Amino acid sequence: MIYLDNAATSFPKPRPVREAVLRAMRDCGGNPGRGAHRLSLAAARCVYDCREAVSELLGLGAPERIVFTTNTTHALNIAIKGLLHRGDHVLISELEHNAVRRPLCRLTEAGGVSFDVFPVAGRSTEEILAALSERCLPHTRAVICTHASNICSLTLPLAAIGSFCRAHGLLFLVDAAQSAGHLPIDMKSMQIDALAAPGHKGLLGISGCGILALGEGILPETLTEGGSGVHSMSARMPDEPPERYEAGTLPVPAIASLRAGIDFLRERGLDTVRAKEEELFCSLRDRLSSLPDVTLYAPEAVGAVLLFNRKGVAPAAVARELDNCGICVRAGLHCAPLAHAALGTPEGGAVRISLGPLNTVRDADALWRALK
Ligand code: PMP
Repeated sequence: MIYLDNAATSFPKPRPVREAVLRAMRDCGGNPGRGAHRLSLAAARCVYDCREAVSELLGLGAPERIVFTTNTTHALNIAIKGLLHRGDHVLISELEHNAVRRPLCRLTEAGGVSFDVFPVAGRSTEEILAALSERCLPHTRAVICTHASNICSLTLPLAAIGSFCRAHGLLFLVDAAQSAGHLPIDMKSMQIDALAAPGHKGLLGISGCGILALGEGILPETLTEGGSGVHSMSARMPDEPPERYEAGTLPVPAIASLRAGIDFLRERGLDTVRAKEEELFCSLRDRLSSLPDVTLYAPEAVGAVLLFNRKGVAPAAVARELDNCGICVRAGLHCAPLAHAALGTPEGGAVRISLGPLNTVRDADALWRALK
């Protein structure tokens, strides 16, 4: 199989990642942070080591503010529902995934929160900041945006948006589902208050573990309550992260795999991985654009995700044909209806090619031959 669906989840997982899962299953037992026997301590060490690695990767400098969740969606739900209050107004970008849009819509229906959408596609940083300014109201409380789109390679200028938020007293929440492991992130210099990311996409871990990274002094209300291993006599969750948000047993093998995925990326170098993905992207984009019946969406943005359609052929049919040739891509609406509207894809969506660190020139050549 040739796998070009890395925006859904990265595949295959590198060997050290698979080995880390097996090691965690062999060496860790009990509950991390809730027992004093050696297997429980091994689990706790595994979790702490990963918190440290994630904190360093995100430029947070505070492992205790790395919270492990089940996925990005869970992390976004904690941040969005735990930080916003009745009467708050929020600005979101037009590239947002349903993982941002749906929790917000729920708050709009049930919790008196309102939001506006700011345009991004085809705009310069100055134009994006001007669009934010125009939509900023006296009761605007936060900007929530993705770092990188999941349907094309457009990215948002996080540092500039972070400065805007600081200057206007707004919270800045970032969905890094498609950028963690692909693009550099520095929460401090980008002035990000809360960042959500998956373990299972660009960071190369297995599914089952997501990340919520909290800036200093950011303490959302809890979304889930239960056992935390500390302050057991209290009827409330602890006041401090990470335990405040980690009710129940953590997915230790998934956390171990995330740590191994980060180590793998570090060894290869994030820049090197990115450069290779961009090279493959450009070679595919340039060849696809030579086919007269192919429409490319936002092709000027270079990255790991290329979106296209063939005139007169349903995207699902293209994906099915590619699957018959042993090539995995995804077709349809990709859970991001706002982004599809922004890019002007037809009703059935489009075909998405998404690259990962293990893709090769041979994969790109095989896709090209199949499409031709
Ligand atoms: N945001 C974006 C931009 C995404 O691409 C995705 C995954 N498709 C998510 C959020 C949700 O991620 P997860 O599946 O880890 O909850």
